[in-house]
Amino acid sequence: MKLIIHGGFFSESDSDEQTKRAKQEALSAIAMEAHAYLQTHTAVETAVYAVSLLEDNELFNAGYGSQIQSDGKVRLSASLMDGKTQRFSGVINIEEVKNPILIAEKLIAHDDRVLSNIGALNFARENGFEYFNPFTQHRLIEYEAKLNQKERKGTVGCVALDKDGHLAAATSTGGKGFEIPCRVSDSATVAGNFANSFAAISCTGVGEDIVSGGLATKIVTRVTDGMTLKQATDKSFKELAQINGFAGVIGITAEGEIYHSDSHPYMVWASFDVSLQVFT
Ligand code: ASP
Repeated sequence: MKLIIHGGFFSESDSDEQTKRAKQEALSAIAMEAHAYLQTHTAVETAVYAVSLLEDNELFNAGYGSQIQSDGKVRLSASLMDGKTQRFSGVINIEEVKNPILIAEKLIAHDDRVLSNIGALNFARENGFEYFNPFTQHRLIEYEAKLNQKERKGTVGCVALDKDGHLAAATSTGGKGFEIPCRVSDSATVAGNFANSFAAISCTGVGEDIVSGGLATKIVTRVTDGMTLKQATDKSFKELAQINGFAGVIGITAEGEIYHSDSHPYMVWASFDVSLQVFT
């Protein structure tokens, strides 16, 4: 029973020591809590649980505290993949909900499993997800200062291996920030979040690069065909470099191999393998 989570990239605009420590502490606490949860829950349940805790923490760009799109609205995207059943579900650009990953979880049992915008919102309300305002003061100030804005990335994700050897991946994002309204993130696509019975991957970074590189599916396919997770990830990042891609990934295999990599400094993460480890 193992897992690894990520909190996206550590951007230049929040690179003070205090924020770094806060992110280390938050990721450590959530990795430990999710690992305890994994003792009595499946990989799918645990990946959803870990991502919902990350969404609730305003330090990260997912759920509460998400970045704002160029028209002043927050739109959230999240997806879930069950490695055992190979079902993928997600919501794209949903507004005014607290935990998009919980809506993705609800959708996994349905025939129509990826919903966008108003369709996703209607589904959420019909299933009891209430109105929630995800704006934070910090994000509003950041939005108002958009002309001076540096590129920011900070999606969240979790991949987990449970006691029965099943894998799952869950990813959630507020997007790139200041994007064209309703631009589609990689996070609710199989490029940004993928799992089967061999490996599970969650990505962060520039969605367009991740989609161009078909990153999560590509790494999982390579592991399925016999590479180690490290080999599969390193090879895929070499290919990503050819298009000057910006991405970070976390991964886990059915054998229990855990690995993470990023194309640029640096993705923040925490894992629980035999013990807790956190980015420094
Ligand atoms: N991948 C996300 C997106 O492009 C952003 C991020 O990872 O921070 O929407």
